Amino acid sequence: MTDVKADPRDPRPLIGEPLALDLLNTRWAGTPVNDLLAEPDGYGIWLASAGLADRCRTADPGLTALRETREVIAGAVQELCGKGELGAEAVARLNGVLRQGRLRRELGPEGPTERVEVDRPEWLASWLAVDDFLDLLDRGARRIKQCAHEACILYFFDTSQNGRRRWCRMAVCGNRAKAARHYEKARG
Ligand SMILES: [Zn+2]
Repeated sequence: MTDVKADPRDPRPLIGEPLALDLLNTRWAGTPVNDLLAEPDGYGIWLASAGLADRCRTADPGLTALRETREVIAGAVQELCGKGELGAEAVARLNGVLRQGRLRRELGPEGPTERVEVDRPEWLASWLAVDDFLDLLDRGARRIKQCAHEACILYFFDTSQNGRRRWCRMAVCGNRAKAARHYEKARG
C-alpha cells in the first residue's frame, strides 16, 4: 500500500499498513472508540485510501461485508498476538471469506495475467484484505503486532530488520510511554 496516497479526508492516526492491518486500523483509541466504518462516508474514504475506489463499490452490502471481515481478521490477529497461533475457528472464518473469490491466472496476448474473481462484487475488498493477511502470515506471523502502548489499539507489520518495533508511531505512543515511565520514576 505504500504506493497509494491516502485520501486527504482520512482522519485516522495511522495509515499505510498492509491492507489487512489497515482494515483493523479503521478503529482507533477514543471514548467511545473511533470507527471510520461506522458510516458509509467513512467506508468510501477507506476504499480511496486503500487504493480500491476504482475496483470496489461503495454501496452498503460492501460495507456490511467489510465490517464482518474486520471482525474475522481482528479475531485472528488477537489469537496470533496472544497465543502465537490460529485456532480452528479463526481459520474456518478466514477461509469462509476466501471462498467468496479466487485468483484467476491466464495466459493473455501480453503474457501471464492474474485477476481476482468474486462471486458477489460486495466481497471484493474483504477478499483482498484476507488475501493480504495470508501474505503477512507467509512473510512472518510474529511481525504482526499490536502497538505496545496500553491505550492504543492500532496494529502494524514490523518490517524492521531486528523485528523489535513496539510502537505504531514512536513520536506518539513511544514517547507517551517514555514520559509515563519517567513520571513513575520521579514519583517513585
Ligand atoms: Zn500506538
